[in-house]
Amino acid sequence: MRIAVLMRDRCKPKNCSMECIKFCPRVRAGDETVIKGENGKPIISEELCVGCGICIHKCPFDAIKIIGLAEELETDLIHQFDKNGFRLFKLPIPRKGSCIGILGPNGIGKTTAIKILSGDIIPNLGNYENKPSYDDVFEYYSGTELHEHFSALAKGEIKSIVKPQYVDKLPKIMKGKIKDILKNLDTSGKFDNIVEKLKLDNILNKDIGKGTISGGELQLASIAAALLKDVDIYFFDEPSSYLDIFQRLKVAQIIKELSEEKKVIVIEHDLAVLDFLCDNVHLVYGEEGAYGVITHPRGVRHAINTYLSGYLKEENIRFGEKIEFFTHPPKKRQEMRILVTYNNLIKTFNDFDLKIETGIIRQGEIIGVVGPNAIGKTTFVKMLAGVIEPTRGKIEYDIKVSYKPQYISPDFSGTIREFLERKSQQLFTSSFYKTEILEPLNLKYLFDKQMDTLSGGELQRVAIANSLVQDADIYLIDEPSAYLDSEQRMITSRTVRRVIEKSGKSAMIVDHDVYFIDMISDALIVFDGKSGKNGRGCGPFSLHEGMNRFLRDVNITFRRDEETHRPRVNKPDSYMDRMQRQDGEYYYSL
Ligand code: ADP
Ligand code: ADP
Repeated sequence: MRIAVLMRDRCKPKNCSMECIKFCPRVRAGDETVIKGENGKPIISEELCVGCGICIHKCPFDAIKIIGLAEELETDLIHQFDKNGFRLFKLPIPRKGSCIGILGPNGIGKTTAIKILSGDIIPNLGNYENKPSYDDVFEYYSGTELHEHFSALAKGEIKSIVKPQYVDKLPKIMKGKIKDILKNLDTSGKFDNIVEKLKLDNILNKDIGKGTISGGELQLASIAAALLKDVDIYFFDEPSSYLDIFQRLKVAQIIKELSEEKKVIVIEHDLAVLDFLCDNVHLVYGEEGAYGVITHPRGVRHAINTYLSGYLKEENIRFGEKIEFFTHPPKKRQEMRILVTYNNLIKTFNDFDLKIETGIIRQGEIIGVVGPNAIGKTTFVKMLAGVIEPTRGKIEYDIKVSYKPQYISPDFSGTIREFLERKSQQLFTSSFYKTEILEPLNLKYLFDKQMDTLSGGELQRVAIANSLVQDADIYLIDEPSAYLDSEQRMITSRTVRRVIEKSGKSAMIVDHDVYFIDMISDALIVFDGKSGKNGRGCGPFSLHEGMNRFLRDVNITFRRDEETHRPRVNKPDSYMDRMQRQDGEYYYSL
């Protein structure tokens, strides 16, 4: 079997005594050519390396990866960035008439695949030393569907558009009013139609560079920008980030309709949205920052169930842990000690009125908080946290609160180790926190990174860990699923549950991912009202009752998948949808 040696970006030769080189048995025996430093970075020869694994254990950053290549993978290399650099095996296939999804962890080549299919990168088929050419690609794909695709791409016969992943960066590169930007991009003549469908009226006159536009508004504007282009293929890289569930499903419906006439590929981590939106899904497995393998398309239900099982039956590959959904029996809330009582809270801003009905939070429970965007969820959490005062009403508590805000700013100049040592010493001193937080959230390899160089998902995990180890009675965690991939979301929900359950504390989690809320919550607080104008918060209700109320507002029904018990959106007006509406069961719990 041939081996591949991969080096992740986390290799930090400057902070390292390079024991990978010093301890390589071949180097020790005098064969310097196995590992040599190039620009200070170790480069490992795949021809000479015997795969003993010593360098892997010596590396403090978990940067080196040696894999045995299955026969199939020896032949399916589509792109390699550099020697020992990230490798992508196989590609998704765009097809008309069906919405194609890509599902897999962060850093595994999904965006690279989109860049290749949209013509941004010419795949080098592993030949990273020479300038890639489409002639080699034609030969490689001769007689396949992708041959047609690349040949049309090379001739300029295919036009495509990519909705980028990080919409929060757009204000740095675009200027002007949203209306003018969108009008200039409109080649389909659908401006009025898209503005109405996405309810963009109230942001059209906002200036993108003025900092007054929220993450959700930026996301909607950039989805609109893609939809307004009349092209052959549309790529949507994480369209649901920052959107509330109602907006997520609305956007999914529009993209789904688009896929009936155009080719559409979507990368998405919210499994409920992916399930509703896509017909077929390519799962991607591999190692973050090292390699990724795109599998053949599966029907969406089968794909998500396979993903949750952690095992690719056809390929006989175990790529992750099995993730299970439990229709968890409701906790007997009445028996638990009262931690906080709040009485008819009112908060009034210039343009926004918030009313929170009387409620009780008990010790040892996790309360999910759901509702549309701009309805007052964060304001409520901030009042509980003592960050802002209610205009009227009382919060009766004498407890300590730990609060993770929705937007995390990396305003710490130093490494993650320095940040955590200063803010959450317990992560290093307590074996409970080491086992329950540091390890599952995979924070070790981030220790030597500077805070301001972390990706969104990395920063999120650090912020969650930091808030969970503070000495507090209640943990208020605002939008923990943002930037996390599906597996990290599941791991995070399990981590938070275990820490809260074992420590006997309470938590309140604001999130828009239904799977995440379903896995993590014992009870729900539900917000309704008119976004940006007025909001009302009610509850806590049992998970079942809360979900029912919330989904009735959103006007969708969920059933449970028979095999995995995961929630699935019912097709509007399908038999199940009609029956559940008739019974008032918007969230089927069995
Ligand atoms: P995903 O979309 O699955 O999060 P990406 O396709 O963005 O993953 O990136 C996969 C890996 O490819 C990254 O971890 C990075 O190490 C590597 N990579 C991406 N672009 C480049 C590049 N231009 N040069 C070198 N490596 C790159
Ligand atoms: P959510 O968390 O549900 O998205 P928020 O609580 O962040 O909603 O905001 C609800 C509304 O209150 C929004 O319209 C927002 O613009 C407004 N708002 C929030 N904080 C302030 C503030 N400090 N001053 C004025 N308006 C605010």
